[in-house]
Amino acid sequence: MNALRFDGQVCMVQVPRPQPAVGEALIRVQLVGLCQTDVEITRGYKNFQGILGHEFVGQVVAAPDAAWIGQRVVGEINIGCGRCPRCQRGQAKHCQHRTVLGIYGRDGALAEYLTLPLANLHQVPASVPDEVAVFTEPLAAALEILAQVPVGPDYRVLIVGDGKLGLLSALVLRLTGCELHLLGRHPEKLALVADLGVMTHQADRQAELDNSAQFGTYPPDFDLVVEASGSPSGWHTAVAAVRPQGTIVAKSTYQQALEFNPTMLVVPEVTVIGSRCGPFAPALRLLAKGLIDPRPLISKVFPLAQAPAALAYAQQPGVLKVLVEVSVHAN
Ligand SMILES: [Zn+2]
Ligand SMILES: [Zn+2]
Repeated sequence: MNALRFDGQVCMVQVPRPQPAVGEALIRVQLVGLCQTDVEITRGYKNFQGILGHEFVGQVVAAPDAAWIGQRVVGEINIGCGRCPRCQRGQAKHCQHRTVLGIYGRDGALAEYLTLPLANLHQVPASVPDEVAVFTEPLAAALEILAQVPVGPDYRVLIVGDGKLGLLSALVLRLTGCELHLLGRHPEKLALVADLGVMTHQADRQAELDNSAQFGTYPPDFDLVVEASGSPSGWHTAVAAVRPQGTIVAKSTYQQALEFNPTMLVVPEVTVIGSRCGPFAPALRLLAKGLIDPRPLISKVFPLAQAPAALAYAQQPGVLKVLVEVSVHAN
């Protein structure tokens, strides 16, 4: 089968179709979303070598339980060992022996076929088209914020960063009825949510939050700040914008180390929560009900044969979600 492999460089290769292990399904991949993590891997993240890609929709073609065969599915990306104390507590995503689809120890989705345990699969409702369902994994990551913080209509929330993660977080958090602000550097990205009741603010590269009353109050004193920029300046903005005894949810990984004084968190008694993968079932439910439509985030679709070009395109400034079409839905 054709696949996009990374082994120090990115290239299309011919490899044997993967063999499902015990409990696993063989899935024919239909559509794949590229993510910042894929880009980071090509820069050395996790030292991963193998087939890239972890956001996918596909169709089960072989499975130990025949009821799954023919189903259109999305899949959770962490595969725990199933035996360790963390797996037994239901924390497979934190298993020390885990593999992660297309990220760590397991070939990913930028190929004609992939394998995953049946336990990781979720059936996609017929009403959800592939180009919507392919957002399930990143949308679940945004939903993890609500699993961690009980945001309600009385919350004032600031999202820092207008990339894919920041925008998906905005689409999720607006459903809570909170007072929602999004701070970003790209007017065209901010515009995607400005009509949805999100108050958008364009960050000036030089401007400091301290001397700005743009959030309506000074100090800004947000109950919750979601840091989705992955940049040191975004982190400093989050620390400056959160209220005493408020919460910062850190959604991004950082390429660089941060230099900051933890006193900034200690004295105002700020809670910082790291946040990664989230729940698939509610993400699919929101997509099926049409409460979230991620399609405005799609920048371009490439065929699998052009996956290297797709990965290069995904790194262009201003580009949001790039999709790779692998095969057309058979049903
Ligand atoms: Zn991702
Ligand atoms: Zn485990």
